[in-house]
Amino acid sequence: MPIYQYGCGDCERTVEIFFRSAAKAADPRCPECGSARLQRRISKVARVRRHGQRVDDINVAEELGRLESKDERGFAKWARQMGDKFDGELGSDFRELAQKADAGLNPVERADVKFTLENRIRRAKESQASDLADD
Ligand SMILES: [Zn+2]
Repeated sequence: MPIYQYGCGDCERTVEIFFRSAAKAADPRCPECGSARLQRRISKVARVRRHGQRVDDINVAEELGRLESKDERGFAKWARQMGDKFDGELGSDFRELAQKADAGLNPVERADVKFTLENRIRRAKESQASDLADD
């Protein structure tokens, strides 16, 4: 799904616009001021699209396989690894969960790790979809 960054020729803001289809991308409007004088900036696009792609590429079974044990310590180690790898993509809180587990707070997310991971992935996809809906 196309995601483009533009510089607006009227309000001079830098805006990102998400399109449901390539056809809609033919007539972009500035979400800030409604101007059609938008200059597409190519370099940012590739980065943003890869970013979205990474969420789709997360192999849930493989990542869960890295979980050595379901106690706080095992969960904290796993959550920290997930945070290092995916917090940027998922907009998630795995690092925070790791800190909670380290502190013995027993985060509820630990009870069903598979659900936690799937839920974070789903939320990341939904937030991409709602960015589309704002268009
Ligand atoms: Zn504008």
